[in-house]
Amino acid sequence: MLPIVVIAGRPNVGKSTLFNRLAGRRAALVADTPGVTRDRKEAEATLRGRRVRLVDTAGLEESAPETLYGRMRASSATAVSGADLVLFVVDARAGITPPDAHFADWLRRQGRPVLLVVNKAEGRAGANAALEAYALGLGDPVAVSAEHGEGLADLMREIADRL
Ligand code: GDP
Ligand code: MG
Repeated sequence: MLPIVVIAGRPNVGKSTLFNRLAGRRAALVADTPGVTRDRKEAEATLRGRRVRLVDTAGLEESAPETLYGRMRASSATAVSGADLVLFVVDARAGITPPDAHFADWLRRQGRPVLLVVNKAEGRAGANAALEAYALGLGDPVAVSAEHGEGLADLMREIADRL
């Protein structure tokens, strides 16, 4: 069984962009898990020589703001429970939002290893958001720009080191 790396976080932080970057060209697409989360995507990828199964979580984009946290949790719970590592993605441009903080609290209680990823960290947004992100209590954040391809080698090393 390959180690399972789950990408979680609120809508629009760049989870799918990061998934595509990490999965890369050589990724073999794996069929979506039927009946679970229709838009969950999985791929096999090689990160620093480690073969992993990547899981992109989704399905929250249409939710109302007051239900966002509950829906984040509901859609991520199954994936997180089977994860060898959770990449918890936050958005440097938006900063740390209340749903991020709630989700972080929940995630800490799940007992799965978590790596905090500050995405959209290109330019000056990155440093401020990384400082804010420390306060989530999930360890040292790794700053990346999934869209611009920055910080990905560091992120892959951090992932491989935790598996
Ligand atoms: P998801 O809802 O978490 O899966 O987020 P998506 O991957 O769909 O991305 C949401 C939006 O953020 C899209 O418009 C992306 O192009 C944009 N985005 C993703 N990564 C970055 C990044 O590193 N920097 C910036 N500025 N935008 C990004
Ligand atoms: Mg997505």
